[in-house]
Amino acid sequence: MADRLEVYRRLLRRYDLRRTQAKREAEERRQALYQQVPRLEEIDRQLQLLGVEMAKQAILSPQEMEQTLAMLRQTQQQLKLEKEALCQQHQIAPEAWQVQYRCPKCEDTGFVEGRPCSCFSQALVEEAYAASNLSHLLGEDTFDQFSLAYYSTQPFAGEHGSPRENMERILSVCLRFTKRFTKETEHLLLYGSPGLGKTFLCSAIAQELLQRGIPVFYATAPALFLQLEKEQFHEEEETEANGFFADLLSVDLLIIDDLGTEFFTSFTASRLFALINTRLLEEKSTIISTNLSLADLAERYTDRVASRLMGSFTALKFFGDDIRLLKKFAKQ
Ligand SMILES: [Zn+2]
Repeated sequence: MADRLEVYRRLLRRYDLRRTQAKREAEERRQALYQQVPRLEEIDRQLQLLGVEMAKQAILSPQEMEQTLAMLRQTQQQLKLEKEALCQQHQIAPEAWQVQYRCPKCEDTGFVEGRPCSCFSQALVEEAYAASNLSHLLGEDTFDQFSLAYYSTQPFAGEHGSPRENMERILSVCLRFTKRFTKETEHLLLYGSPGLGKTFLCSAIAQELLQRGIPVFYATAPALFLQLEKEQFHEEEETEANGFFADLLSVDLLIIDDLGTEFFTSFTASRLFALINTRLLEEKSTIISTNLSLADLAERYTDRVASRLMGSFTALKFFGDDIRLLKKFAKQ
């Protein structure tokens, strides 16, 4: 996992290597062909000399240029024909002389007329996916697959409106969040009853952003804090500058799923605060999902954490009956 700039740099280095290698391979192929048919090397050398000679003529003697040039062109033509015949005779394809770029469109530079080539954009997406920690979730949980039909239209005890109306609002907030992601920073707190699609929406948002090549990191709270604790224990000097924690601080979108299910210690509380607070200050979006209520959150974590969550996050409350069973039956 790394921030966008680092991913970008790494890709550029990879393209550079790819390009150098393609050129080297072409050169090796050429040398091998010369070995096979030595006359080809002579022809190529003569063609090169002719090229130089023609350029010289054009500068030195404008008057006689035409005549001399015509002669040189004729020789050039003869050599080319001879080369062609030799290649045919030895079954050497024209491509054997060319540099074989993986992407002929940008010749493995990653750019066409100053704009990122489609292969480069695709590579950015793949990089982002690989680093997201989401590969196990990806695929099914996308906005296209999200169905409001599972949510009841009946009023729900103690809440305004029906679960369906509530989900319509939540969905529109999530879509807006995704659409405006690079333009403004927003933080989401998805909280409330389990089995209503919180993880689904986290995954849908992540996929949409990953498709745009934006680095996202997803982790459940237990996995995340366990990793942080390990790091704390093993490599204390590294934690702040370049460890897992630093990655969590720098990634464009951090998603912490299932907050509240981790083993709770004072270490967890302090790390959580540092994560949330630093990301808020650096205007990097964070999404937190939890089955806890706001009151439980405030009680479990410190007031500092609760006040950040309630003050700076868009809180989306999930309520209604668990839809997991409904979905399961629908699939069968
Ligand atoms: Zn390309």
